[in-house]
Amino acid sequence: MARFKKMLIANRGEIALRIIRACKELGIDTVAVYSEADRDCLHVRFADEEVCIGRGPASDSYLNIQRILSAAEITNADAIHPGYCFLAENAEFADICSQSQFVFIGPTADNIRMMGDKATARNLMIENGIPVVPGSNGTFEEEKDALAAASEIGYPVILKATAGGGGKGMRVVRDEKELKGAFSIARAEAGSAFGNHALYLEKYLEKPRHVEIQVIGDQFDKVLHLGERDCSIQRRHQKLVEESPCPVMTVQLRRKMGECAVKAASSIGYVGVGTVEFLLDKDFNFYFMEMNTRIQVEHPVTEMVTGVDLVKEQISVAGGNQISFKKSDISLKGHAIECRINAEDPKRDFIPCPGEITTFHPPGGPGVRVDTHIYQSYKIPPYYDSLLAKLIVHGRNRNEAIARLRRSLEEFIVLGVPTTIDFHREIVNDARFISGDFDIQFLEKF
Ligand code: ADP
Repeated sequence: MARFKKMLIANRGEIALRIIRACKELGIDTVAVYSEADRDCLHVRFADEEVCIGRGPASDSYLNIQRILSAAEITNADAIHPGYCFLAENAEFADICSQSQFVFIGPTADNIRMMGDKATARNLMIENGIPVVPGSNGTFEEEKDALAAASEIGYPVILKATAGGGGKGMRVVRDEKELKGAFSIARAEAGSAFGNHALYLEKYLEKPRHVEIQVIGDQFDKVLHLGERDCSIQRRHQKLVEESPCPVMTVQLRRKMGECAVKAASSIGYVGVGTVEFLLDKDFNFYFMEMNTRIQVEHPVTEMVTGVDLVKEQISVAGGNQISFKKSDISLKGHAIECRINAEDPKRDFIPCPGEITTFHPPGGPGVRVDTHIYQSYKIPPYYDSLLAKLIVHGRNRNEAIARLRRSLEEFIVLGVPTTIDFHREIVNDARFISGDFDIQFLEKF
């Protein structure tokens, strides 16, 4: 693939390293950008070139569009990969990249806009006959409109920011009184977190599973899906464990959900990798929640069961190539599970714990993959999210994957800061987890 000569990676940590690895295999030179707090981060060491773009806080560096573009210009990069978070779903950034002659490794700015506003995306799905969670018709500015919508839908409902993401800014409200208390606070929170106050609401489904479909589209109007991931093990609406296949999936249900996900992406002419998220209830009804227009944290589980390198494929379709495989080439082989290892203290309400890693021993052996940017003596800066490493295991079936996960977590040693490793050891020994019988409320009863 001769399209790109040099890729600037507008991100940090494990995902920046993941992208560097893909570029190396594709013969593309890499430029790392880094903040003053990230001088010793591994992505800086493994890139071919590196440019410091500012101080530690993300607004001074990884979110500073001008500095990132200057770095791309002085290094003569021809493409920019945003990774996830930071600028990955910023339509303005995607636009500015293309206006500045840098290929943005992601969908078009219009694709991002259409799916980025969640209330608009819901309406678009309804128009395309895709089931959505029952909810309000668009956003509302006033409490009285929210109250009217909620009484029509029936409590409990979940208030969501239309510009929301990362599990933030959502509130479950069980009656009118709770909604009155929550509305203006949620509106203010949405405004300060996402720069957009607008809220919408959905029926709060009790005990569904979070099941999402990985899709990819190319510039020739072809969209394919690569099966599902079950991301039901969540804390405060944020994923902690992800697996593929979903333990309760059937061939027919996968076909139905896959077709809906492909239709959702096709309806906006989607180009790139993306994820269509659904809630799946006990009766196997599924409902569209949102589409993420980027590579996801949990993409490795799909890579392990399909054998497709999603980041290389993402770069390839952004370069104007056709998807390199056919629908019939994709089958899910075996079972993969990912645990997010965070520098957080489960004993203190998962408070983030920056500090120095004094000992680092990652697990290895058959079927084990660790994506991480940390090493012994690495100092975790206080400015960014607390993800330290992703442990991904693969086995011929779910039982083998669980056994590998259990022994990998035993081998995994990170000292110096509290981590979620012990917490994952408990999850992997939980009877409900082992039997696959869990839903998004799993950790509430843990
Ligand atoms: P974000 O974009 O912030 O990640 P999502 O809309 O994807 O927000 O929702 C995140 C999580 O919140 C879901 O995985 C699910 O656990 C929970 N959730 C969202 N909507 C509902 C709903 N209508 N009913 C029950 N749980 C929900």
